[in-house]
Amino acid sequence: MNLQVADLRFSYRGRPVLEQVSLEVPSGSFCTLLGANGAGKTTLLKCMAGLLHPQGGRVQGDGEDLLALSTRQRAQRLGYVPQNVQASHSALTVWETVLSGRVPYRRGRLSREDRQAALEVVEQLHLEELALRPLDQLSGGERQRVFIARALAQHPQALLLDEPTSSLDLRAQQETLELLDRLRREWGLTLLAVLHDPNAAIAY
Ligand code: ATP
Repeated sequence: MNLQVADLRFSYRGRPVLEQVSLEVPSGSFCTLLGANGAGKTTLLKCMAGLLHPQGGRVQGDGEDLLALSTRQRAQRLGYVPQNVQASHSALTVWETVLSGRVPYRRGRLSREDRQAALEVVEQLHLEELALRPLDQLSGGERQRVFIARALAQHPQALLLDEPTSSLDLRAQQETLELLDRLRREWGLTLLAVLHDPNAAIAY
């Protein structure tokens, strides 16, 4: 999905953070967003994901106004993986969390397709052994993988990731970026990720 942001403006209580931001992420590409702390990267991703309401500008996916869609419709097109995912004493298990990625498609009970989609990403992200563990008993890096898996279970056409490798050790960082890049090639997924490592940004 070709993602296009045009003239986006956002202020927190009158304090401007984004002023006429425009960018394009071509369909099937892996773009990274680099910038200083406080530059507004998270704010930009949240505006694109519909979690914050910009005061002006447009966010389009293949020419469709993403901000005009319902949350459910938007979630079928666009996944979002937040920064520093906290367990917040969640009693949910890994499996339940990944399954919650299917909410945008569910009408009532879970279908066989929902379970299959969740199972596929659990396998892809090597989460099988953690599947029955509650989130608040995982390490930060393990939890980060679970939230990437949940977003992938949504089967989005584009994925916004806010520092997806920040809690991962070097090997897991590379594995995660490789996996995302493979999904980009195999599923045609469009990726926009905030990274702080210029070497990783160049490599991907
Ligand atoms: P980092 O690299 O440190 O994660 P960032 O580029 O993602 O930073 P943002 O989190 O988007 O930056 O923050 C941009 C600016 O908006 C910062 O000055 C921050 O203090 C401010 N800000 C962020 N969230 C809020 C909020 N909820 N209310 C008011 N100001 C906020």
